[in-house]
Parts: sequence; C-alpha cells; structure tokens
Amino acid sequence: MGKPSTITPKKSLRFGSFVFSPSREVSKNIKVYSRLFRCRKDGFDYMGQIKIDLQNFVIKVEVFNKNYFDYFNSSLNNVTLALKKLLFTKLLLEKSVPEILRETAFSLLKNNAIERKQSPTLDLIKDHKVNLKEIFDKLNTKYFKSEIKATIKWGKKVNKKNLTSFRFGSYDAKKQLIRIHPRLQQDFVPISVLELTVYHEMCHQWAPMKRERGMWIAHHPQFKEKESEYSFYNEARSWEKENWKKLMRPIRKKIIPDKVSTLSKKMRS
Ligand SMILES: [Zn+2]
Repeated sequence: MGKPSTITPKKSLRFGSFVFSPSREVSKNIKVYSRLFRCRKDGFDYMGQIKIDLQNFVIKVEVFNKNYFDYFNSSLNNVTLALKKLLFTKLLLEKSVPEILRETAFSLLKNNAIERKQSPTLDLIKDHKVNLKEIFDKLNTKYFKSEIKATIKWGKKVNKKNLTSFRFGSYDAKKQLIRIHPRLQQDFVPISVLELTVYHEMCHQWAPMKRERGMWIAHHPQFKEKESEYSFYNEARSWEKENWKKLMRPIRKKIIPDKVSTLSKKMRS
C-alpha cells in the first residue's frame, strides 16, 4: 500500500468548541498545572485534559475519547501540536489563570522562537550520493531497532506525465518489497523527502493494516503516530504539499547537441 496518491491542499483543522472546567486554587510552588476540558464537535462531546509542566515547560494534551482524532486527515503529531497551541492560548485568555502560568507561557514562546531558528534547512539530493539501501539501513537502526526485513529498489521509470496523482512509494507486504519512485532521485528533491518516503513504506511493515468496521485501514492512528516520529517529518511534508506537482513530470533528459540530429532521425524512422 503506497502513500496517499494525491495530496490535497492544506485544510485548516476544525477542532470544535472548548470549555474548561473551573480553575482550582493553586499553591505558589505548584509543579504541574492541569485543567479538564470539554470539547463539542459536530454534535458530540469529548473530554480531555491539558497538563503544563511548569518546571520543564512541557505541555501535554490528551483527549480521552480517542475517536476524536479520526476526524482529522493529518498525522496525530500535527493534530496534537495544533491542539496544544489552541488550548494553551485559550487558557491564557482566561482571567482566572494563575500568574505562574503566564510566566511559563512567556518562556515557552521564547524557546519556540529559538527552536524555529535552529530548524535545519532542506538539504537537497544534489549534494548527496543517493543509495536506497544505505538510507533504509540508517532508518532501520534509528527508528525500528533494525527489525524491518525488506528489499528496497527504485520503481520503473515512466516517461509519461502523470495526470492526476503521484505515488511516492509502495510496499508489497507479501514480497516484503519497497519500491521508491525514481523521480525522487532528481536533484531538486530534498533528502528528507526521499527519506520520509522510505520511512513511510517501512512503517507499513511496523504497523500493519488493520480491519475496522469491515474495511482494511493502512494509515490508521498508530501508523500515523509512528510515521510522525521521523525527525524532519514536518519539513518534508510541507515540501511535498507545495512541490508534488513538479514530480508529475518525467525526468528531463539533458539534450546533448551532437545527438539531437540522430535522435530526430530515429524518431522519423
Ligand atoms: Zn502508505
């Protein structure tokens, strides 16, 4: 089963409306601040909790009804991250929020700004020698305890322009075979996009298809959670969303002037 073959434009996540439970009084040396919330979406109620570790500046958000996450056509990681931002902002708008939380918020924002500055630029394939087996082995050690057993190879080159979709890769569970689209070797493709494609197909063996309500689901929440562990997941995904159309075109052959005449002759014969 390959990646979703078409990439739809970014939709904003609609989380529903949130109400926090009343705030309890907190002591001055509180370490973790937590609030329960109720979320109403499409006529259903969901309960959850936000926890803010005030010493380590870590925010955790949990929705107790896991099927809440089925709504979103994005990785669990992305949804949770957006949900954290939304709830934290909402919380800060409350009058009853303790001062210590506002102070934490301030340091969190500063930290985020630093993280963003340090995020790696997209390294392109032109600066690397691409070896699929090496990429596979590296990812296998780093993310899968070297437990993925599969053969990996480039898919067949297709010289026609794709009309509707681009399939980055595929995984054949019976043959334990991963195929990667050869157009991902082009020098304008970031190495992280190629890596994420290999990683995605490896995840298919790690988190196999599940049968739910009579249907086989390949990209279920556990799959997506594993997928989002890839270190440059967000960077690679946003490149894909913006650039996948460039991959619809066949690899351009460099035309060498001497050969043009023979080439055109051939075409005529
Ligand atoms: Zn897939």
